[in-house]
Amino acid sequence: SFIVFEGGDGAGKSTQVALLREALERAGREVTVTRQPGGTPLGQQIRDLVLHGDHVAPRAEALLFAADKAHHVETLVRPALQRGEVVISDRYTDSSVAYQGAGRELGAQEVHDLNMWAVEDLVPDLTVVVDISAEEGRRRRGAVHDRLESEEDAFHEAIRQHFLAMARGNPGRYLVVDGTLPPEQIHAEVMRRLEKLGVV
Ligand code: C5P
Repeated sequence: SFIVFEGGDGAGKSTQVALLREALERAGREVTVTRQPGGTPLGQQIRDLVLHGDHVAPRAEALLFAADKAHHVETLVRPALQRGEVVISDRYTDSSVAYQGAGRELGAQEVHDLNMWAVEDLVPDLTVVVDISAEEGRRRRGAVHDRLESEEDAFHEAIRQHFLAMARGNPGRYLVVDGTLPPEQIHAEVMRRLEKLGVV
C-alpha cells in the first residue's frame, strides 16, 4: 500500500509519518518511509537546488520537482510496493499541484498532468491531508528555513485551500485531519481509516 501525507509547512506531517511507521512495524509490516522532494540521492540534490538556491523560475521549479518524483517512484517507491511493503511518503504529487499549480499559478491541471506523466500514474491508496491555517503554520515554523517557507500567508492559504479541494473531490482516497489536534489523536484517525481500507 502507498500512503501519503500532505499539508502545509509546519502541519505536523513528519510526526504523523513517524507514528504510522511505528504502528505498522509493530503490526509486523515492512515499511519504507520516504519524502518528496529528496527521497533519493538525486532527489536530495534536486531538493538542495530548488530550496536553497536563488530564484528558480516557476516552470523550472515544477519540472525539477517532477524530475525528483519520476526518479523516486521508479527507483524506490515501485520496487518497495512490488516487494509488498507499505510505502509512506511525506508529500507527493498533490504538493506540486498545490504549490506549483495553485501557489505559483502555473495551473493545477497542467501541473497535475505533468506529475502523472512523471510517476506513470502511480496514485496513493490514501492521502492524509494534515490541515492547519496559514497563521498557525507560520507560528509553528518559527524562523524561516527555506525559500518556500518564507512565502506570505496568502500563498500558504491558497495551497491549503487547494489541498482541501482535492480531498473534497475524492473523499474515498483522502482523509482530512485537523492539524491542531494532539498528534496521538490524529494518528488514531489515520489508523481507523487504514483499518477500513484493510491496510492494518
Ligand atoms: O515538507 P518539506 O520540508 O519536505 O518541504 C520542503 C519545501 O518544499 C517546503 O517549503 C514546501 O513548501 C516545498 N515544496 C514545494 N513543492 C513541492 C514540494 C515541496 O514547493 N512539490
